[in-house]
Amino acid sequence: MRGWRYVRAMIDLLLPRTCIVCGRKLNIHEKYLCLHCASDLPLTRFGLMSHNPMADKFNEAIQKELNNSWRQEAYAFASALFFYKDESGYKHIPHQIKYQGNISAGRYFGRMLGRELRSAEWTSDIDMIVPVPLHWERRWRRGYNQAEISARGVADELCIPMRTDILKRVRRTQTQTRLEVSEKSVNVAGAFKACASVAAPKHILLIDDVFTTGSTLHSCFLALREVYPYPVRISVATLGFVGRA
Ligand SMILES: [Zn+2]
Repeated sequence: MRGWRYVRAMIDLLLPRTCIVCGRKLNIHEKYLCLHCASDLPLTRFGLMSHNPMADKFNEAIQKELNNSWRQEAYAFASALFFYKDESGYKHIPHQIKYQGNISAGRYFGRMLGRELRSAEWTSDIDMIVPVPLHWERRWRRGYNQAEISARGVADELCIPMRTDILKRVRRTQTQTRLEVSEKSVNVAGAFKACASVAAPKHILLIDDVFTTGSTLHSCFLALREVYPYPVRISVATLGFVGRA
């Protein structure tokens, strides 16, 4: 352990690590965030509330779609690790994972999300973790899927298998960030297809990096429902939630 600390200190001297949020140089005890930014991380604690702003938003989309069908649904659970605001430095966490290839940070914050979810009662029967997939071409260009990196961290922490063969993005979509709210659900409608590679899961947890309007996760939800009808539970979790408490 002492040897490792010496190596770490040497590496820090040659290649200083900086806080993702404020850019300050990190000391040997700090990982990805400085002590100040880590203690100020705006955790949502949504896992502890089955009804929360994210779950309400997600269930609103489910309900809207249900109005035109005879199907039955249970209230879906939803949780995020932290509040994501454009004006806050915490937006750099998903940005670094998605655009700057900071895969180890993705795994680290995924594990943190996993620990938050572990204390939530509704996660006790989850038996499958499914990341929101990228279209194969985008994945090939980027070299990885950021949702899958975080999902791996959640899966490790909850000791639940992650499956990347259940859900596919069959249509390339425009990036959601520059679209108007109304355009987002149109953009991802029908973009996903699911196959029932696992016979009878009880509770699927869908993972994405950020929840904004919820339209991507809702589109995934509908694709999964095609092969896993009610009463299979489908819940969602993300690193960031765009909204306020
Ligand atoms: Zn900081």
